[in-house]
Amino acid sequence: MPRHIVCLTFDFDTQSGFIARGMTTPTPLSRGEFGLVGARRILALLKSQNIRATWFVPGFTIESHPKACQAVVEHGHEVAHHSWAHVPPANQSRDEEEADLKRANAAIERLTGQKARGYRSPSWDLSDNTIDLLLAHGFLYDSSLMGADYWPYRARRGDRVTLGQPYGPGEETALIEMPISWSLDDFPHFEFIRTPTSVLPGLQSARAVMQNWLDEFLYMKKTVEWGVLTYTMHPYVIGRGYRMLGLEDLIEKLAAEGAVFMTMEEAARAAQTHMGLSAPC
Ligand SMILES: [Zn+2]
Repeated sequence: MPRHIVCLTFDFDTQSGFIARGMTTPTPLSRGEFGLVGARRILALLKSQNIRATWFVPGFTIESHPKACQAVVEHGHEVAHHSWAHVPPANQSRDEEEADLKRANAAIERLTGQKARGYRSPSWDLSDNTIDLLLAHGFLYDSSLMGADYWPYRARRGDRVTLGQPYGPGEETALIEMPISWSLDDFPHFEFIRTPTSVLPGLQSARAVMQNWLDEFLYMKKTVEWGVLTYTMHPYVIGRGYRMLGLEDLIEKLAAEGAVFMTMEEAARAAQTHMGLSAPC
């Protein structure tokens, strides 16, 4: 039976990403603070459309903005793991990464009553230890890799990579990978970031980006019988008025095309069942 699942995911970073990059003057911090406004708008939109989504919430946001995070829980959304301090694991030692993982999971447990089932790394950059640590800490899924678009797959560990040598795939693990893409992330399309060494221009037309995102769904529907498509958004990015109108329009069009909206945990469990029956498409 054809099934085309859509996961709307929101990385509720607030100020954490700016602080992790050393951008601690008042203006960048206020950009992160705008995420609180965006989150209220997103919660209202999801409620009006009767959609449950997945919020990847850093421990920093849970402890800095408890009421905003409580609202996410009260609206029935999944709260998943997005580190404590938004430092990419690739920049951490194994001990540092595990300490941050546990600290953030404790914050999620205090907020929701249970540990996270899913993980998404800050800046989508896993370390060589991340998959091991996620398995050791009982995670069901990760959502940080880009090896597929419409079908979840099993995350590998221990890939062997040496310059000048063929690729050596490692062992497939039980961890379900829910793949993502920068092309389906609001951040690079919309955010203007200027640093001493680089400029991210952003500021694209919301309607044009949403048309691309809809086309991605239509291609999935055309080419696979069963699939999961994941969109990644940040409340401080998508929460601007004209982008919210674009998102509302996208959701309505996806629904009209038959999209089945799920939390990422639900989609990962559906994928687990599906993957047990047949190989990826
Ligand atoms: Zn983030």
